[in-house]
Amino acid sequence: MSTPIQFPAMEKINLLGMNRPELEAFFAEMGEKAFRASQLMKWIHQLGAADFSQMSNISKALQQRLSETATIQPLEVVVDQLSTDGTRKWVLRLADGNCIETVFIPEDDRGTLCISSQIGCALDCSFCSTARQGFSRNLSSAEILSQVWQASRLLDEEKKPGRKITNVVLMGMGEPLLNYDNVVKAIDILLDDFAYGLSKRRVTVSTAGVIPAMDRLADRHDVQLAISLHATRDDLRDELVPINKKYPLKDLMAACHRFMEKRSPRSRLTIEYVMLAGVNDSAQDADELIKLLDGLSVLINLIPFNPFEGSGYKTSSNNAVHRFQDKLIKANMTTIIRKTRGEDIDAACGQLVGKVTDKSRRQQKFIKPRFGMNS
Ligand code: SAH
Repeated sequence: MSTPIQFPAMEKINLLGMNRPELEAFFAEMGEKAFRASQLMKWIHQLGAADFSQMSNISKALQQRLSETATIQPLEVVVDQLSTDGTRKWVLRLADGNCIETVFIPEDDRGTLCISSQIGCALDCSFCSTARQGFSRNLSSAEILSQVWQASRLLDEEKKPGRKITNVVLMGMGEPLLNYDNVVKAIDILLDDFAYGLSKRRVTVSTAGVIPAMDRLADRHDVQLAISLHATRDDLRDELVPINKKYPLKDLMAACHRFMEKRSPRSRLTIEYVMLAGVNDSAQDADELIKLLDGLSVLINLIPFNPFEGSGYKTSSNNAVHRFQDKLIKANMTTIIRKTRGEDIDAACGQLVGKVTDKSRRQQKFIKPRFGMNS
């Protein structure tokens, strides 16, 4: 008698990162009705189930069939830190040993979760410590969603008022618009009523200005867009945000106008501007910014630079930041100064570093790379 051929075990499908159309297609293939997708999403994202046997409104037979082909596999949380200001940071480990970081920032009337979209970042912005880690790869939609899934579960366990995710910002590690497909799929799930049910105004994608993807996003999702501008002249922006060499300011501003033309007249584009002493914080810089943004409906976020070892930059003085803000306000531009949060646990803007197997060899340029987990 001949021995049967051994096929390698098929990898199970992770349902955590599947949006509604994908789940419906998955169930159709199993000969099941489309409403199963809503049921599954509710169990996974609202009730935090990671095991089919918990799903009491799904028959035992279907639970069994699901477990044969699929899993609900979140990333593992390996570090969990709470700041004195209530900010909470998690380090999540991926199957390949890399780590990413996720931060929860509680404010008076909201709770913002800042999530990562890539392992490391390929953009090499000169003032950002994530850049120093180099780049490994894009996160899958399941890996992006894992951050929200784990954070909501762990915040629920706190059983404290005001510790709920009301907003999600894609401002963690990575450039979300260079991982477009997985990011928009993750946003589908964030907005889905059977999953996280967030309103589109409460989801923000932050980009250094990847123009083709901005154009695509404008037609795909009505979420909030934030542009990391940081400079008003190409020579300076080429240095701070090197992707500017590919997509210079004139083209970026034209893309911002195109984007906003597709939005309701009441909506505003967020402009992020990191305040670097003696680099981009003068009165003349403020005047140039006013001119550059003329005709666009914007909300300006001035971000005090969060220093890190060997960055070569200094934070603008409080005076300089306020003078800059006053000028913008006088020009009728809504301008807020972003509060630095979670500094004691290295959770502030530009401090998220994770642990990245660098494929860009950028780490080699620096003598002493920092790792959030060990430092
Ligand atoms: N790649 C995306 C999202 C990640 S960065 C982007 O460029 O928008 C999120 C925000 O933090 C950006 O505005 C970025 O410019 C800012 N940032 C990065 N490093 C910082 C630092 N050291 N201090 C303050 N803000 C920083």
